[in-house]
Amino acid sequence: MDCIFCKIASGEIKSDIVYHDDRITAFRDINPQAPTHILIIPNEHVPGVGDMKPEQAGMMSELTRAAAAIAEQEGIGKSGFRLVVNSGPDANQTVDHLHMHLLGGRAMKWPPG
Ligand code: 5GP
Ligand code: ZN
Repeated sequence: MDCIFCKIASGEIKSDIVYHDDRITAFRDINPQAPTHILIIPNEHVPGVGDMKPEQAGMMSELTRAAAAIAEQEGIGKSGFRLVVNSGPDANQTVDHLHMHLLGGRAMKWPPG
């Protein structure tokens, strides 16, 4: 399958990986929108949140738990961070492999743009 995030998870394409195990990979976004901007993905290809099968529902918990641990590791656990999952065109999802953005290191605005 021609999926860039599958290739990052398998190591076929190099990226700045901050965490990797048999289920999850986390790496720095190539176009960071905050001092800390990390993408956390399941190694298994799922296009987006609307495509998870019932047996894959635990994926979001795994991504969230990894995000919280990585936030601590990056020193933004206490200052705060934002987790974002874009889904579909209106939300500007540009890569069709489920991913969670971990953003932090600056004050964020609300509502998000
Ligand atoms: P989306 O807009 O789909 O929620 O987020 C996709 C993100 O993937 C974007 O923030 C984009 O900068 C990032 N991205 C796209 N291609 C690559 C890549 O090859 N390497 C890395 N590290 N990030 C990428
Ligand atoms: Zn993929």
